[in-house]
Amino acid sequence: MSGAALPKLAGVCGWPIHHSLSPVLHSHWLRQAGLRGAYVPFMVKPWDARRAFETLKRTTIAGVNVTLPLKTDAFLAADEATEDAQRIGAANCLYVRRGRLIAHNTDLEGFAAPLLTRRTPQQLSGATVLIIGAGGAARAVVGALLSLGLPEIVLTNRTDAKAEELVRQAGLPSFYALPWAERQTAVRRADIIINASSAGMSGYPALDVDAREAEAGALIYDLIYVPEVTPLIADARDAGIETLGGLDMLIAQARPSFRLFFGADAPNGGEAEVLRAALSSGTR
Ligand code: NAP
Repeated sequence: MSGAALPKLAGVCGWPIHHSLSPVLHSHWLRQAGLRGAYVPFMVKPWDARRAFETLKRTTIAGVNVTLPLKTDAFLAADEATEDAQRIGAANCLYVRRGRLIAHNTDLEGFAAPLLTRRTPQQLSGATVLIIGAGGAARAVVGALLSLGLPEIVLTNRTDAKAEELVRQAGLPSFYALPWAERQTAVRRADIIINASSAGMSGYPALDVDAREAEAGALIYDLIYVPEVTPLIADARDAGIETLGGLDMLIAQARPSFRLFFGADAPNGGEAEVLRAALSSGTR
């Protein structure tokens, strides 16, 4: 049998990895698309990650997604990095092209796609944005917003120094850090408020901002998807403020990987329900 006739194999690497929803999502899409292939979890130990990723080129695995805490190792193991991976200095997707290992990051596209269903590029070009958080997710949000050309981006984080460092690295006058103590003032004047912190996630305290004080026409985008309705989203909805949850980003960041690994677009339909069922089964 020639290599080309083999069913395509892809997966997700992490440590731990049992909680990942990616196998559920990609397997659903493979079934929907009627494609032969498989997408499985790979447990990769952090101290062995670079070597594991470098050997990908010598296997018939089409590519892998990479989750915490291996995203920097994935970036460093690759022969080349796409612009999106370089913007963040971390990869959530590795694939092989012409014998070279490529590092990519689909979080930028995954963050932007749902936002663009709610605001046109023209609306975004006049919007003031507040980002809460300064971890890996916030880096992807910053990268995506800078590519979209937003005029003013304000970032605040519980640990002020981390917000200042992220802003310093970008070195752009339209992007600045706001002290955590002043976050509520920024909530009142932002057109788009993005929670890229872990606050509000299951097992974490709620984010300490009052979403009900946001502008009537504002959009509150919470990247968290467990729970699907965070306290932030619930408060915003109570006040009649438009919201966007993290499940849409989770799906949107997986689509480009599916295309890269299996050579076909991920079909539309049923993915949110499949993810909700997996989450409510309590195994994740
Ligand atoms: P991370 O690198 O660990 O960063 C966590 C961030 O949350 C830090 O800025 C941290 O602030 C802040 N934080 C933690 N607890 C807090 C609290 N009680 N109050 C205020 N801030 C708090 O994590 P990450 O990878 O950026 O992920 C952040 C969130 O985004 C997670 O909930 C994750 O599920 C979500 N996410 C969703 C998607 C999606 O596809 N929807 C993709 C990526 C991430 P300090 O600096 O002060 O510690």
